[in-house]
Amino acid sequence: MDLAELVDPAHPQGDVKLIRARDELRAALAPVRREGASIGLVPTMGFLHDGHLSLLRAARAECDLVVVSLFVNPTQFGPGEDLDRYPRDEERDLCLAAEAGVDIVYAPPAEEVYPDGFATSVEVEGGITDVLCGDPSRRGPGHFRGVTTVVAKLFNTVGPDVAYFGQKDAQQVAAIRRMVRDLDIPVRVEALPIVREADGLALSSRNAYLDPRVREQAASLSRALRLAEQATRTGSLSDGLAAARDELATAGVEPEYLEARDPEDLTEVAKLGDRPVLIALAAEVGGARLIDNVLIEP
Ligand code: AMP
Repeated sequence: MDLAELVDPAHPQGDVKLIRARDELRAALAPVRREGASIGLVPTMGFLHDGHLSLLRAARAECDLVVVSLFVNPTQFGPGEDLDRYPRDEERDLCLAAEAGVDIVYAPPAEEVYPDGFATSVEVEGGITDVLCGDPSRRGPGHFRGVTTVVAKLFNTVGPDVAYFGQKDAQQVAAIRRMVRDLDIPVRVEALPIVREADGLALSSRNAYLDPRVREQAASLSRALRLAEQATRTGSLSDGLAAARDELATAGVEPEYLEARDPEDLTEVAKLGDRPVLIALAAEVGGARLIDNVLIEP
């Protein structure tokens, strides 16, 4: 049976269907699931770039039906963060999603996700969510509470077989994997590699904030991480962190954090042993808060 027909008989294949209501999405997916087709979900905040597209392509290659969500989730933004100015371009996102062969774009309004009286959240506690970006002096654990709550809701609405995330947000991946494990959510979580610009800058919707004059500074984050990996391999993890710190200092970038941690439970790591080590970095460059990381395999 043609999956496009299952979703909407009036809808030609190759076109993408835009859905804004949760119940309509459920109704569209029910026959797909009954047919035994696999469903892939790519949660995003929109303003799609090649990083997002790599997730869409992976989903397209592996799943019978692909859903991408576009939702700038207010609960993961703290007071004074960039919720109001976060870049949005739904029309362009729809074109890109169609080109990538997405079947359904789910773009709900905030009231659909958080109706009046909304009072429940999903929180991965301690360790994973109160360090790095979740450190109370930075974005705080409320950021990840917002992420896991909205992702849990998307999982409940879509019921995906596979959900695709970017390794760029390594801490988010760790929190979501832990939530899926702890709450027995029947979904496979795939984390895909960071997609970068030619100069190494990790793609991010927030790169739209970057003035061309600070691009060189922004590129120092990925350079620092590359040097960190090299120096770790030839010397030690502390050599690696020192090399990264030097590179950032040369570029005039003050890291918010630069730390070596276990990629799964985010405990601090002092040396490269028999497990991969995550070196994670956040810094504000020209008014944009950027994050990047490298995963060093043993
Ligand atoms: P966002 O729209 O920023 O919430 O990102 C949606 C998904 O795309 C998340 O799973 C991100 O980790 C992933 N993503 C964002 N930037 C990149 C990138 N440069 N490479 C790979 N995945 C990315």
